[in-house]
Amino acid sequence: MKVNEILDIIETMFPNADCELIHRNAYELLVAVVLSAQTTDVAVNKVTPALFEKFPTVNDMALATPKEIEPYIQSIGLYRNKAKNLVSLAKSLVESYDGVVPNTMEDLVKLDGVGRKTANVILSEWYKIPALAVDTHVERVSKRLGFVKKDASVLEVEMTLKKKIKKDRWRKTHHLLIFFGRYHCKALKPDCNHCPLFDVCKDKKMKSKRKMDIV
Ligand code: SF4
Repeated sequence: MKVNEILDIIETMFPNADCELIHRNAYELLVAVVLSAQTTDVAVNKVTPALFEKFPTVNDMALATPKEIEPYIQSIGLYRNKAKNLVSLAKSLVESYDGVVPNTMEDLVKLDGVGRKTANVILSEWYKIPALAVDTHVERVSKRLGFVKKDASVLEVEMTLKKKIKKDRWRKTHHLLIFFGRYHCKALKPDCNHCPLFDVCKDKKMKSKRKMDIV
């Protein structure tokens, strides 16, 4: 089965797959994505309303200290490091980009706490520039479904998916694979017994588990 046919099936499972990070502008999206590293979108959405009320603009955050940010985000992982990165990236935005979140990969990855995945999310989600962000779900699901080799690096996953999928589907693909990985093909307990992609799945361990469960 071709990648696009598999995506069609996942789309029937999750027709409303979309960005789950609540945001009103590029600054809020950037902060939310930085905060979401190694934590859930739900956890991020719980802290951002109060954070953005206290620091409503990039200028406000640039003038803050990490210690002032910490109490607002301490319920999420790595909060001390994230607080430092937020202040630092806000300062860079003010000093080098007039407070505007840049719209190129080259400039975005220069900001503290911003890697290729975060940059791709900003490009596709806010600027509507075709990009395909690879997070842990996208990587895991792409390997299980045989879109990419098992030992592919994150960058290789991104490049391979971009070759196999048309540009106008990149953004949606990111969300489809995240939803499929987050709610169905979970890291530790994938729902193989009710998986419409069982026959094309390349994860032998998971497939044999389903056979054992059925017997
Ligand atoms: S069969 Fe299991 S491991 Fe394979 S794609 Fe489906 S849920 Fe994921």
